[in-house]
Amino acid sequence: MKKPLALAAIAIAAMGTMSAVSAQAQDFPSGKSITIVVPFAAGGPTDRVARDLAEALRKPLGGGTVIIDNVPGAGSSIGAAKVARATPDGYTLLLNHIAMATVPSLVRNLPFKVESDFEYLGIVNDVPMTLISKPSIPATNYKELTTWIASNKGRINIGNAGVGSASHLCGLLYQSATKTEMTAVPYKGTAPAITDLIGGQIDLLCDQTTNTTPQIQAQKVKAFAVTTPHRLTLPLLKDLPTLDEAGLKNFQVTIWHGLYAPKGTPAPVLKKLNDALKVALKDPDFIKREELLGAVVATDGRIEPAGHKQFVVGEIAKWTPIIKAAGVYAD
Ligand code: ASP
Repeated sequence: MKKPLALAAIAIAAMGTMSAVSAQAQDFPSGKSITIVVPFAAGGPTDRVARDLAEALRKPLGGGTVIIDNVPGAGSSIGAAKVARATPDGYTLLLNHIAMATVPSLVRNLPFKVESDFEYLGIVNDVPMTLISKPSIPATNYKELTTWIASNKGRINIGNAGVGSASHLCGLLYQSATKTEMTAVPYKGTAPAITDLIGGQIDLLCDQTTNTTPQIQAQKVKAFAVTTPHRLTLPLLKDLPTLDEAGLKNFQVTIWHGLYAPKGTPAPVLKKLNDALKVALKDPDFIKREELLGAVVATDGRIEPAGHKQFVVGEIAKWTPIIKAAGVYAD
């Protein structure tokens, strides 16, 4: 007699928990602040996009606070792992870039699974990269840069934001394509890397226009090329050659950012987050801010969770053989 009663009690308790969870999901975001984890240092390009997005998300999420939590290190893997393990209630999100597609092949023993440990909320934007140097090098165009690189063999330092980061990938591919070897200097993000570039402690950096545009404009760094298949339209950067036209055939790295929640976040919460993201990405202020930094805001199917996941799966399939062929595994 006791057993069925105990089972019934468990079932009732479970139903209670489930309805509490779904009640919480219906109430979301209920005034509680939402945290977006940025897996790189404050002041860098991923941080820039996250802070602009947080501002644009505030209103569609009911006017509550959207906080940025910088959890840098290991080329984004520490911050991404933190979100993969967070309570899946919609209050902890991750804003990450192309690293979601490159860390699986660049980082051994990754502490999370990109395809199964996250809910996909949508792509946010695409951002080109620029190849920049410290201000004191004599080169003034890409051709002169290659001469300078050749005459400084074994002495060039190139910064990056850690193994698996976009700057790391771009730097590795650049060295592989030009058959050069440089010393990689890792930072917790490209904000501290660009500070050292300006100060002359490192020589080169490949970084997103969301970080480099103001520094190029202020002539604190020199810019030599862009990593996109076509030249950029931004007046300041429109004269920079693409690396492809500068002779590195098919050299293309475009950075995209996406928003993620931990796996298991309730469907109604995901729907509210995705709806808010769609509104935020149409916010004219957000679009303008991104455009001024050379970024293009995502539209249509890429803002759908399924479109976002399909895109990331495609990017993993695209980058894995390129990384393998370039022999750019990081140990
Ligand atoms: N731009 C960095 C990278 O190389 C990341 C950052 O600091 O936002 O991936």
